[in-house]
Amino acid sequence: MKELKDYSSEINKCSKCGLCQAVCPIYKETGNDCAVSRGKFVMLDGVLKGDLKLNKNINKYLEMCLKCGKCSDFCPSGIDVCEIFRIAKHEYLKNSFEGKVIRFFQSKNIFNNILNVFNRKSASTNGSLLYFAGCAEKVFPNNTYAVRDILKALNIETREPDFECCGVPFLASGNIERYEEAMTHNIEVLNSQSGEYILTDCTSCEHILNDYPNINKKIINTGDFIAQQNIKFEFNKKQIITFHKPCHLKDDTFLKNIFEKCENIEYREMENYDDCCGFAGQFALTNRELSSELTRKKAKFAINTGADIILTTCPACILGIKQGLLIEKGLFEKKPKVMYLSEFLKNASEITT
Ligand code: SF4
Ligand code: SF4
Repeated sequence: MKELKDYSSEINKCSKCGLCQAVCPIYKETGNDCAVSRGKFVMLDGVLKGDLKLNKNINKYLEMCLKCGKCSDFCPSGIDVCEIFRIAKHEYLKNSFEGKVIRFFQSKNIFNNILNVFNRKSASTNGSLLYFAGCAEKVFPNNTYAVRDILKALNIETREPDFECCGVPFLASGNIERYEEAMTHNIEVLNSQSGEYILTDCTSCEHILNDYPNINKKIINTGDFIAQQNIKFEFNKKQIITFHKPCHLKDDTFLKNIFEKCENIEYREMENYDDCCGFAGQFALTNRELSSELTRKKAKFAINTGADIILTTCPACILGIKQGLLIEKGLFEKKPKVMYLSEFLKNASEITT
């Protein structure tokens, strides 16, 4: 496994141009240079030179990151920022008590037992289309049932062998050994299955599966899959919808195609629809105030559209938008519904091909 020192030249590729400041949601919110990649690289360079210790304070700034990857996308030096932050976090946690607690709760048995507390209907293992539900389906089972129902309208059954969590939560907390364990298991299962494609409905799973090395399947998300089929969705009553684009959803062109085939809906784009929702899993726990403010802003933009329903394709974003709505509108005021795209489509009064 690589160590922080192996990234020394990558860290030094940072020209301090500051372009990451223009796109980093955390920098825009705080104006704190330590919170954006440039500042973090200055600190990590100090650690590598022995001038600074990789301590709690530096970890605080490593955690002040949504892993949205926007700085990487814009970085003229092409630095894989999130990879470096993960390695640094792993190094910090390696010998700490906090790291031991994380490793305990994320160990295979404990993690899977916690997820199994949530009910789940048994999934088919002999359908024709390989499906990666991801562990969030245990928390949001309606969504997985929705995908299966839409596919049923196309006479397609899913096949769901014994996958593990894709590994996103392990990577986010710097538990790289556990990520590699889950990834190795999933690659073995994936490559043992027939077929050219694997379908997933979770943007985070899709993002990570695309990073797995040596897999013999193409990853396709349900949005793209549905858009490629000739399906029409008819809704009984007129509904106004809006969409939040998760950070890791690379291409959302399927939206236009799907919405054109929906009768009785009106799509209104929210301001900054592709800005991070501000939740980002662990970030919401370690940076409560920042997360509250970012999710509140996201909710406000969504509310401003007058939409009845806010759609997205990531379980963490659902939680983020719900958190924002609660902060923006309070406990008792009527709020727009927040839903997975597939759950919304499944609610159509008629699905025809
Ligand atoms: S955009 Fe890239 S090179 Fe420029 S300051 Fe940020 S991390 Fe450094
Ligand atoms: S990954 Fe996102 S939140 Fe983190 S430093 Fe880059 S732009 Fe900022």
